[in-house]
Amino acid sequence: ETLNKGLEKSNTSFFGKLSKAVAGKSKVDDEVLDNLEEVLVSSDVGVNTTLKVIERIEARVAKDKYLGTDELNKILREEIAGLLSETNSGEETDFVIPSDKKPYVLMVVGVNGVGKTTTIGKLAYQFKKQGLKVVLGAADTFRAAAIDQLQVWADRVDVPMVRQDMGSDPASVAFDALQSGVNQNADVIIIDTAGRLHNKVNLMNELTKVKRVMQKVVGDAPHDVLLVLDGSTGQNAFEQAKQFTAATEVTSLAVTKLDGTAKGGVVIGISDQFQIPVKYIGVGEGIEDLQVFNKYEFVDSFFK
Ligand code: GDP
Repeated sequence: ETLNKGLEKSNTSFFGKLSKAVAGKSKVDDEVLDNLEEVLVSSDVGVNTTLKVIERIEARVAKDKYLGTDELNKILREEIAGLLSETNSGEETDFVIPSDKKPYVLMVVGVNGVGKTTTIGKLAYQFKKQGLKVVLGAADTFRAAAIDQLQVWADRVDVPMVRQDMGSDPASVAFDALQSGVNQNADVIIIDTAGRLHNKVNLMNELTKVKRVMQKVVGDAPHDVLLVLDGSTGQNAFEQAKQFTAATEVTSLAVTKLDGTAKGGVVIGISDQFQIPVKYIGVGEGIEDLQVFNKYEFVDSFFK
């Protein structure tokens, strides 16, 4: 299956920059490495991960003595796939959830505007399509719009949603949603939480409380804490990852808006820096525009 046109476009631009970086050079030398470093950083791979990649290539140059720029593409691919492999095990292409967890509780975190609601809607659609019973919980209670927007998706996908008034306790909504899910014999319960980055302690307290209260209903909930990041925001996405991982144990990532952006490198950098697997990528606004992250497809598209 070919990736979304937009995603290919973003990656062509990485490849375009890479080609420019080695233009007129037949051998990987310091200048090529400097240019490569610039390309990786400007593609939002992040400084730490970029330096790691550069070091690995330097080590190969030192070992092979002569490394042609025609081989650089291949080696870069291997190194990036290698980095992604440290956290992203799979070649998964399907939206699967473990069959031994019922209900499977997915807690979704992320700031407003990153595509959190849309991602939840797309996930609900995918799970429902498999015949699974899905329940949503609107525990991002800070803005009325957040609750209403999730309701729009719940109606669109035709799944029940548990909500309370704006400003109510997120933990209370999560508790109700889990209880309702258990009563309805749900397979998957998706809880929308914390849409704002107030101070770190508040965020931590809020998420900790939501978790603790959920565990009164489902002992080992949540089974997954999914952080949604906007892939088009580069360094902001890194900053948000830093704050959320400090506040709670994030177990997977969804990176949205990878259509029509040259920032796909953020996927590599964030996954590497925070050692968290990327589970899903958003490639458009439509209900079908969510893909299970496949590292091989991603690396291929990056170099197309
Ligand atoms: P939230 O505030 O984090 O819940 O964000 P929303 O889910 O409301 O999304 C904010 C905007 O981003 C909406 O206009 C969405 O249609 C759009 N959006 C979400 N995911 C994607 C994506 O993968 N690609 C694109 N192009 N737009 C997206």
